[in-house]
Amino acid sequence: MINLILLGLPGAGKGTASERIVDKFHLTHISTGDMFREAMANKTKVGLEAKSYIDKGNLVPDEVTAKLVEERLSQPDITEGFILDGFPRTTNQAELLDGILDRLHKPLTSVISLEVAESTLVERLSARFMCKECGATYNKLSKKPKVEGTCDRCGSHEFYQREDDKPEVVKNRLEVNEKMNAPLKDYYDQKGLLTVIDGERAPEEVFEDIDKVLSNK
Ligand code: AMP
Repeated sequence: MINLILLGLPGAGKGTASERIVDKFHLTHISTGDMFREAMANKTKVGLEAKSYIDKGNLVPDEVTAKLVEERLSQPDITEGFILDGFPRTTNQAELLDGILDRLHKPLTSVISLEVAESTLVERLSARFMCKECGATYNKLSKKPKVEGTCDRCGSHEFYQREDDKPEVVKNRLEVNEKMNAPLKDYYDQKGLLTVIDGERAPEEVFEDIDKVLSNK
C-alpha cells in the first residue's frame, strides 16, 4: 500500500507525475483542484462556494477542502493506495489530514516535493491548456496533444485555458502558495517522510526519481 502526498507549487508537474504514478502503481489520484473544477462545472453547493476563491487564485477555506478530501478518501475504490495532489497546502490542512487518516486507518507512506524555479512555473502555467471534456492537461510548448486539436485521453476537440492560469491570477496564486509551502515541507520533513525531487527536468527523468522512492516502500 502506498499512500502518497505530492507537494509542489502550481505548475511544478504534480498532474503529469500523477498520471505516470497511476499507470505504474495503480494508486487512486485525488486532486482537490480537479474536484473543485468538477463541482464548479456541476454548480454544486461546494462548487459555488469555492468559485469566488478559485477565480481570484486564493485558497478555499480549509474546512471545506478537508471535508471534500475526507469524503473522497472514505470511498471504497482506494484499494492500492492514493496520491493526494494539491492537498494539503497549509500546515493547518496537514494537521486536519492527520486526523482524517487516523480515522480511516490509512497511514502516509511518502511525501514527495517537486521543486521548480518560479520563472519556470510562470512559463508553464501561461502555456497550459485543458480538455473541456475530461480535464486532461496540455502545454503549448512541451506537451501538445498527439493529434493536433484532439484530446489524447478522451478524443474531444474542445479545449480551454483555466481562468486561474491567466496572468492576472497566476501572480497571486503563486504568492499565496509560496507562503505556505516551506512550513508544509518542514512539517513532513520532521516526520521523516519528505523527499525533494528536482522537477525542472523532463517528465521521464522526474518520474524515474519518483519511481525509486515509491519502489522502496
Ligand atoms: P490546483 O488545480 O491544485 O491548482 O487548484 C486550483 C484552485 O483550487 C486553487 O488555486 C485553490 O483556489 C483551490 N484549491 C485546490 N486545492 C486546495 C486546497 N488544498 N486548499 C485550498 N484551496 C484549494
